[in-house]
Amino acid sequence: MLFKAPKGTYDVLPERGEKWEFLEEAARSIFKIYGYRPIETPAFEATQLFARGIGEATDIVQKEMYTFADKGGRSITLRPEGTAPIVRAYIEHALGQRPQPVKLYYSGPMFRYERPQAGRYRQFYQLGVEAMGSDDPALDAEVILLLVEYFKSVGVKDMDVLLNSMGCPADRPKYVEALKAYAGTKLDAMCADCAKRFALNPLRLFDCKNPTCRDVISSAPKVIDYLCEECRDHFEEVRGYLDRIELAYKIEPKLVRGLDYYTRTTFEVQSRHLGAQNAIGGGGRYDGLSEELGGPKMPAIGFALGLERLQMAVEAESGTIPGDFELDVFVIAVDEGVKKDAFDLTLRFRREGLVAESDFLNRSVKGQIKAANRLGAKFAAFVGPEELSAGVCRIRNMATGVQEDVELEKAPEYLSDRVFEEYEERGEADG
Ligand code: AMP
Repeated sequence: MLFKAPKGTYDVLPERGEKWEFLEEAARSIFKIYGYRPIETPAFEATQLFARGIGEATDIVQKEMYTFADKGGRSITLRPEGTAPIVRAYIEHALGQRPQPVKLYYSGPMFRYERPQAGRYRQFYQLGVEAMGSDDPALDAEVILLLVEYFKSVGVKDMDVLLNSMGCPADRPKYVEALKAYAGTKLDAMCADCAKRFALNPLRLFDCKNPTCRDVISSAPKVIDYLCEECRDHFEEVRGYLDRIELAYKIEPKLVRGLDYYTRTTFEVQSRHLGAQNAIGGGGRYDGLSEELGGPKMPAIGFALGLERLQMAVEAESGTIPGDFELDVFVIAVDEGVKKDAFDLTLRFRREGLVAESDFLNRSVKGQIKAANRLGAKFAAFVGPEELSAGVCRIRNMATGVQEDVELEKAPEYLSDRVFEEYEERGEADG
């Protein structure tokens, strides 16, 4: 039997891994500029953390969690999202004692037992930030701006920013009543899951992916029409800041998002170049989550973006993502007797900062040249007995075929200059 990656998962091979590294490094550098610092939490947590945090009636908790009993009989769940674990860490390590807001970023795999399709997987990678300890509307605008600026920095331009406000817990009952009054008469047209949602938590009616149910819910009362004065003011201020920084957005009253912890501002960024799974990132405020988890009062806001969808969006829009592997030099040992000298020269090239490779399969010279070509080496450095006794190595430009004998001592520096010139010609000489 041949094993395959489990359904809904995939392997990230080097070509893709290099693109992801580019996207991740770009994210880290801009997150840092905005004052965020790294945090890592375990890939699994106590099941209750998610059940309480995300909400019992959500699709995630009802249907999508990878939950199991460990050998000590504890109920464990692979994290389906990053926010509840970080709030747990904030409480556990009393991060409330640090200067507020505490700004953290994270990246890593998340796990949801969803129906796999293009852009939807069972293990997927998220990058995210959480800004915790402030309810200032300026922070909402800053967090949304950060997401948009990051997307722009990696080549996403055609995107829509959707914005909504979910209000506070005090606003909920009124709204839920109105929603129930509306949906109650239409349950016959909706799916069985929606009947359950209606009974458990009517807000979750917005999560249904069934087209008929979506149709029904699209004319439902809007949560934004049921905000208290404070929440309305907060939303107005967020909008004021967004206008001030000229960040265009659309109000989307159906943007309720699939997790119960959201309060006030919610937002989502959609790529115009993707199909059904076009949400490349999103987030919102979760002012009550800390208390829900037994912690202190701690208003906070964050976002998460999916690396897979971001890669698709960038590629759809700009064609490529930088980050291809480039081999500067392949060191060729002309015979067995000089293998160790070739080994030494390879190390010296690397110490000079060159990407250098050599043969580990005892290939013939022809075989080594072929390997160098297949790896896309810019140069080959030939080490042979004659060259060695003359104190040189022969350096060949693989593209032009031009070769030169270069003093062994100076070879690394010489080659480093040649490679630098090549980058300069391509206008990439900053690294
Ligand atoms: P969420 O945590 O549901 O708010 O999702 C935030 C972002 O994560 C989305 O905008 C997507 O980019 C990504 N995402 C969520 N679920 C999946 C999934 N099953 N597969 C791939 N990406 C996902």
